[in-house]
Amino acid sequence: MAITMQDARQVLERVYGYEQFRDGQKLIIEHLIERKDTVGIMPTGGGKSICYQVPALLQHGLTLVISPLISLMKDQVDALTSLGVEAAYINSSQDTAEVNRILRRAQAGEIKLLYVAPERLESDWFLERAVSLRIAFLAVDEAHCVSQWGHDFRTSYRAIAPFVRKLAAHEFGERPLIAAFTATATPEVTEDIIRLLELQSPEKVITGFKRDNLAFTVLRGEDRSAFTLQYVKDRAHQSGIIYASTRREVENIHEQLVKSGIKAGRYHAGLSDEEREAMQEAFIYDDVRVIVATNAFGMGIDKSNVRYVLHYNMPKHMEAYVQEAGRAGRDGEPSECVLLFHPQDIVTQKFFIEQNETTPERKAHEYKKVQLMIDYCYTPECLQTYMLRYFGEHDDTPCMMCGNCKDEREQVDITIEAQKIFSCIYRMNQRFGVSMIASVLKGSKNKKVIQYGFDRLSTHGELRHMTEKAISDLIYVLIADGFLGLSEGQYPTVRLLAPAVEVIKGERKVQQKVAQSLKPKTLAAV
Ligand code: ADP
Repeated sequence: MAITMQDARQVLERVYGYEQFRDGQKLIIEHLIERKDTVGIMPTGGGKSICYQVPALLQHGLTLVISPLISLMKDQVDALTSLGVEAAYINSSQDTAEVNRILRRAQAGEIKLLYVAPERLESDWFLERAVSLRIAFLAVDEAHCVSQWGHDFRTSYRAIAPFVRKLAAHEFGERPLIAAFTATATPEVTEDIIRLLELQSPEKVITGFKRDNLAFTVLRGEDRSAFTLQYVKDRAHQSGIIYASTRREVENIHEQLVKSGIKAGRYHAGLSDEEREAMQEAFIYDDVRVIVATNAFGMGIDKSNVRYVLHYNMPKHMEAYVQEAGRAGRDGEPSECVLLFHPQDIVTQKFFIEQNETTPERKAHEYKKVQLMIDYCYTPECLQTYMLRYFGEHDDTPCMMCGNCKDEREQVDITIEAQKIFSCIYRMNQRFGVSMIASVLKGSKNKKVIQYGFDRLSTHGELRHMTEKAISDLIYVLIADGFLGLSEGQYPTVRLLAPAVEVIKGERKVQQKVAQSLKPKTLAAV
């Protein structure tokens, strides 16, 4: 008899004790019980496990789960076992006898879910055994690892498709249903997942990136250290995480907090295992309210009452930001995610990219990701809308909670400033970066400006009443707003996009809630 959603709900209640599926889960499970290949994209904490576990429990045969980390496998299997579900994993920590024992149990139908690392699929020995396991369903966790454009490429994920092909071609084998899951896939990575896992006419379900209880804010031009201190003091009784990009920065911030009498923890890869574990425990059990950390902190932490996540620096891409900021408000209570942006962050992130020994193509891609992160810091639109679009989810309803939605400053017509900027870029042959353009508009006579003869341009000094920083900021806003484009690479150049040309021709106006560093007063003086 065909499996129905009612059966699925019963399993949810009986096994997990939950009353209903979340929206995304329902859609994914509907597709899977109709045996359609599916890609599920949901943020961390969105409830991906249930999406494959419930169908796995409903159908005949074994579900093979591909999982990249031994610790993740173990957590999942422990959780399932405690719910009374027959689950097991095989990984490199076990000897052959143990692996054989588990495979025999799976063969006898005593196991419903078997977790394996992708490397396992590369072995012919495993393939032979797999044929006799009658794998009905293959669930691929952390599926972005298959894509070079994801943030965590794993070569062994490329073994999944050949494995399935061989399984299907084997005289006693058949192709299982496949579902792929990830928390962080841009539309580009999603396409890679579909192509490289050879999914057949898959359904795509992207949901849950909207976090109704999170208020996102980007602050540019703050004195970060003073801001952070005050921010934490104002929230002395709340749990919070402060992320910084380097160990040194973590140490500095931590020291400052402690000096001001705040009981703060710190966490980075330079500390001993014991120290890190102790810090983590102290934070989880509320012995310290605030923890200052690099991105090494947070993996696998399920602390529900984190009231704020403050980013002292801009992270390297939106995937990282969403993951880290998303650790706030797991309990659904109102929480804040604040990003303190400073142009130096761009330099730091580009430095990190240059440090990596990788292909020029890969570098260009990483630069692009940094730029999209910078755009987030400058966009005037709803920050959640920007975020959702980044992950391919379309929802244009403004969140009404973020810094941009709540920004009550009036829209100012900045068409004239924009025209000056655009024509300056045009006269500079669209071959220079943001800071050079800002220097020319400011009227600087620095060596480079003179060398190129830009002091003789009619646009030289056209925005001299503004600071160079304010001009740069405005250019970044115009980039984020789609008037200007940036080339890829370490030293990106700015070019005009079609909307900018319309502005130059006087066919289009530019409205802006004026950026903090661009006080309306300054503009009024134009
Ligand atoms: P992910 O793998 O997407 O990070 P998990 O599968 O670990 O997320 O689920 C996150 C949390 O949400 C878990 O504590 C899980 O038990 C809970 N959860 C998942 N689905 C539901 C549901 N339908 N109702 C209530 N809680 C749920």
